[in-house]
Order: sequence, then C-alpha cells, then structure tokens
Amino acid sequence: MRGISTRELLQIYLRQNGDLEKINISELAKLFGVSRQRISQLLKEMGEKRQQIRKRKQQYCPACDVPISRNARACRIHSHQRDNRIEGYKYRCRICGIFKELTEFTRSSRASSGYENRCLGCRSAWQREYNRTRRGRENHKKSVKSLMDKHPERRRAYYQVFKALQTGELTKEPCKDCGNIKSQAIHTSYSRPLDVKWLCRRCLKRSSHKTEEYISNPLENKFRTYINQVFQTSNISGKWIASIKRYYKTTTLTKNILQNTQKDYKNILGLGIKYKGVIDDFLIQEFSEKTPIIRKKSSTPEIHMPKVPYTDKSDRKVQTEEFRTGIGHI
Ligand SMILES: [Zn+2]
Ligand SMILES: [Zn+2]
Ligand SMILES: [Zn+2]
Repeated sequence: MRGISTRELLQIYLRQNGDLEKINISELAKLFGVSRQRISQLLKEMGEKRQQIRKRKQQYCPACDVPISRNARACRIHSHQRDNRIEGYKYRCRICGIFKELTEFTRSSRASSGYENRCLGCRSAWQREYNRTRRGRENHKKSVKSLMDKHPERRRAYYQVFKALQTGELTKEPCKDCGNIKSQAIHTSYSRPLDVKWLCRRCLKRSSHKTEEYISNPLENKFRTYINQVFQTSNISGKWIASIKRYYKTTTLTKNILQNTQKDYKNILGLGIKYKGVIDDFLIQEFSEKTPIIRKKSSTPEIHMPKVPYTDKSDRKVQTEEFRTGIGHI
C-alpha cells in the first residue's frame, strides 16, 4: 500500500461506499493506520459532513420537564425510587454485611428506601454504645427536654398515664400487633390522656399511626399559668384542670365551665376552698372590666407628694408642668 497517501485511500473508500449514511472515523483510522484526528481533518478538507456527530434531541423529565442527560429516564428527583423495598425479600445490612429479612430493619423517614440500612441488632448495638458515652447521655437528656418544653401537653398526658397505671385505672398490655411485653402507651390525641393503645416501638414505626395535632386552648393556658403564679408551683394546676375535665366529661375548658365550677367545686373531686378563691379572682381578672384584685401588698413605701395648688382649669397645664419640673430637681 506504500506510495498511496491517506488522502487518496480515503477518496477511494468514499467512492466505493457512496451510499453510507454515517462515516465511522475510528474504524477508518484503524483501517489506514493513522490517528482519528488525521481522518477527521482530511474529511473536513474534502467538505464531508457525514462524520460529524449529530446532536441528539434534548430529553426532558416526563414528570417535571427539566432537561436531562441522554441515558437518564427522569430527573434526579423523579428517577429515584422511594420506598422500594419489598416484604419477603432479604436485604443486606451495611454494618454486619448479612442478608436479613425486611422485618429486621426499622422504618426510617430519612432513608430513601424507607428503611434504615443497618439491621436491628447493629442499630441497637450502636445505640447502646452511644448512650454509654457522656455525649450520648447529655444529648438524650437535651433532646427529651426540648421536646417536652415544646409540647407541654405531651408531658401532661404521659403523667396522666403514669398516674392511672399507679391507681389501676389503666393496666399495661402487651403490644397489640406482635405481643411484645415491652410496649408503650400510644396516644391518639393528647387532649384525651387516657385514650391509649399499646404498641411496641417496632410496630409503632411500622404502623401508620399518627397522633392528632394538639391545638392549645388559650383560656386553659392562661388559667394554668395563673394558678402556677399564685402557688409558685406547677403541681396543682394540672390536678385541678384534670379533675374539672373529668367531672364535666370534656376535653376543652370554656368560660362557661369555669363559671359552673364556682358553684360545683364542692362536688368535684380534688377541688377545695383554695380553688374557690383562685377561680373567683381569675374570672374577675379575665372577664370583667374591673381592675384585678392585687392580693400582695406592695413592699415599696408610699411616697407623699406635695399637693398641687389648683386654681383655674386654664392654668392646669402650666401648673402640672411646673410640678413635673419641680420633681426633677428633688
Ligand atoms: Zn422530574
Ligand atoms: Zn447488621
Ligand atoms: Zn409489636
């Protein structure tokens, strides 16, 4: 083949294959023993266009019309299959590497698959280890406290359950779904503290259970803080409010109910003469135009002001102003 230049070879090739739709540069480069760049350059010089890569049509995500790459089926958000694990299949734990049933993984709202990637055993081992550290203990305390401060109604509801278990009003039952003895009282609504079902942690995560959103009652909150202020303790308010709710079989305190307790308080278990004084003061402060009764005597001694000489109405403004400036110099 010596003596014939690549250009001539290419011309012969093109003459013989005139009906080609595309020209494959890399195949020709191999065939003639030259670089792809050289072939490309020669074809360009000949005014050939069939070697050029034709632009593909831009593809779009079928769900949101965002432009996507040619091999993708959808955009980043829509191509990800969420919650795609199937009951009955085995999945690999990332920590111990063993394939386990799906029941061996906890549900997780963070993970895209809907399940954690570590098995229950590995998870609890990690948790146990973490809780032993000082940081773990502190963080646990902190998170519980902040959650309770954010939702005081939950603390009250848990306390009511605790009390009811002590008095025997409630009895602890094993998990409703799997029979596990380590069950927890799960509230359907925190405004009904004793309306609970018993579930273990795992079954709770698996169930679609959702506690009703608690809407706080402004009147009840005011009443609670008022009592707490009067007695400087938070124990009594909860007891009283719970007794009232139980007596009237209601979940929300209203003005009417509080007014009724003024007459009924002797019949309501847990309320006494102390309550009568507090409720009277509270209702006066809350619902009447009169100024509230201040029980505490002010500790600051009374200041005797000099009497302002009063002569004429027109002079009044001037007089008071003189009076004011006079005080400033004392
Ligand atoms: Zn999309
Ligand atoms: Zn594992
Ligand atoms: Zn269970």
